[in-house]
Amino acid sequence: MTVNDDGDFLLLSGIEHFAFCRRQWALIHVEQQWQENFLTQEGHYLHERVHDAGFTEKRGSVLLSRGMPVRSESLRVTGSCDMVEMDASENGVPIQGREGRWRLYPVEYKRGKPDLAGGAAMQLCAEAMCLEEMFVTDIPEGAVYCASEHRRIVIELTPELRDKVRSALEEMHNYFSRGYTPKCKMKSACKSCSMLDICRPDFQSAGSAKMYMERLIREEGE
Ligand code: SF4
Repeated sequence: MTVNDDGDFLLLSGIEHFAFCRRQWALIHVEQQWQENFLTQEGHYLHERVHDAGFTEKRGSVLLSRGMPVRSESLRVTGSCDMVEMDASENGVPIQGREGRWRLYPVEYKRGKPDLAGGAAMQLCAEAMCLEEMFVTDIPEGAVYCASEHRRIVIELTPELRDKVRSALEEMHNYFSRGYTPKCKMKSACKSCSMLDICRPDFQSAGSAKMYMERLIREEGE
């Protein structure tokens, strides 16, 4: 199986990897290497529970759609939304199989502390941009659900955030078409990176973990 089965379309979920570390994204999505650590395993478990095979249910006046497949021809991305809430609204859009009009509100589920200034917000925004293109509508905001804190944080989908998403995707498409993997630049984020052993095969022979982390901190400060 390849990471991307849709020609030159990129996976939406890669935006968060890319925001975390360009090299990590390229190792997974360009070189198609993958390695689990407990952070990603927990994340998968959470997503499996949310993604219930395109399931839609009604709670009061709100429709909940889990794992809705989405794509954007203009951004050349594809993937799925953890949850799309649909409120009955005159200003909404028609939904197949349902009467009336519905306002779309994407919710992205994250374990731990989501990077609201970076990857998590960008992924949510990219999902909203796909929905906007598919349903010809405007989605001014969405939310990130933080599982460990059982709370949702509203994210305004500003023009600046949208520009950030477009520019990241442009760079990702550029790397993807060239098969390019950026070089390793050590940083504190490496500590929790699921690709550390693949990214840094010298890690095992480079001495103790303590020495490695000391080097990380030193190089990050340079
Ligand atoms: S170990 Fe560090 S540089 Fe390598 S992919 Fe992970 S975050 Fe990026």
